[in-house]
Amino acid sequence: MRQSQLFPKTRKEAPRDAESINHKLLVRGGFMDQLMSGSWTLLPLGLRVVAKINQIIREEINAVGGQELLMPLLHPKEIWSETGRWDKADEIMYKLADARKKEYVLSFTHEEIVMDLLRKNIKSYQDLPVSVYHFSTKFRNEPRAKSGILRGREFMMKDLYSAHTDEKDMMEYYEKVKGAYIKIFKRLGFDFKVVEASGGVFTDKHTHEFQVINANGEDVVYACDKCDFAVNKEIFEGIEGEKCPDCKEGKIEKLEKTVEVGNIFPLGTWYSERMHVYYTDEKGLKKPVWFASYGIGPTRVMGTLVEVSHDDRGIIWNPAIAPFDVHLVELPGGRGKEIYDTFTEKGINVLWDDRDVSAGEKFSDSDLIGIPVRLVVSERNGDKIEWKERASEKSELISTDEVIRKIKK
Ligand SMILES: [Zn+2]
Repeated sequence: MRQSQLFPKTRKEAPRDAESINHKLLVRGGFMDQLMSGSWTLLPLGLRVVAKINQIIREEINAVGGQELLMPLLHPKEIWSETGRWDKADEIMYKLADARKKEYVLSFTHEEIVMDLLRKNIKSYQDLPVSVYHFSTKFRNEPRAKSGILRGREFMMKDLYSAHTDEKDMMEYYEKVKGAYIKIFKRLGFDFKVVEASGGVFTDKHTHEFQVINANGEDVVYACDKCDFAVNKEIFEGIEGEKCPDCKEGKIEKLEKTVEVGNIFPLGTWYSERMHVYYTDEKGLKKPVWFASYGIGPTRVMGTLVEVSHDDRGIIWNPAIAPFDVHLVELPGGRGKEIYDTFTEKGINVLWDDRDVSAGEKFSDSDLIGIPVRLVVSERNGDKIEWKERASEKSELISTDEVIRKIKK
């Protein structure tokens, strides 16, 4: 992609109302734009990052047998009344009525919709287990929609739902998905904790959250300094400094704040009993389906990555989710077009700064946008290319072949 054609241009100043790092840097770098509080456009650069995040999630969820589909966002009131969540989730749901006074929900989750799909399609134990997911928009009535893209009224979500014959099968799959989530958050480059928490409007059971330590978060976690024990403040009954109840060796530390980037819920039969989702077992007996759901917010993941990976000049993307593989900066006399064509042919994604602006402006934009590798071609560098990684201050002059070899590695 030619940077001269990239929409929109970068900005020198952050919006005046921007408080968080992700809000400032993602808007300045041209990744996203705020329509109103909690409502964002993903611009071309931002959409590239989110598409890469989604692909990592997709690969790991497919690997545990998830099947991708796409469900609607506009739901009839009746389906939400079946579980009582039309009233129970009143505070966070957007509700609306059409000209004929028929009432609807703008979805903040899809348990009821998956249940409806299951009762239409599941008959016997032979039809189970089932595991389906989608990537789609979610709406949530947030009174405090701030912190940039970390907390939106409208945001992207990957939600997975699984249905089983019994609790044992559900819990085995729940542990499998927990493992898939650990792989996903490692690939995304996070330092995170798997935290026990309450289920909120989803379930009375304990659930698991995936929490990244960051000052802009809204959660507080108590965790052991030796083992994996970690519990959300809302359900933790001990105190800081006490001995870990799990390994009996480590001490409990208070981690504040943390950002929740994913959560998983073993929901049980609560939904299937209310929505009459039954199957027939081997003996011909009618039984309720066991059900679990699992979420990750890709747009929140993008915001959180910026919060934990930046410096005073801009964003530092992890190569796995960077909008481009390399940022080719062409200075006067450089072979920009030739290098761009060669790399593109090799399947390397290049942002080519072909603009007629100063070297200083090109370098500061490159630091702001944060592509992991910057390549400079200029008259002075001759047939060599200057290689500099965003996360490092060192640079080196190397041949085109060597650059390709390093990128492919
Ligand atoms: Zn411990």
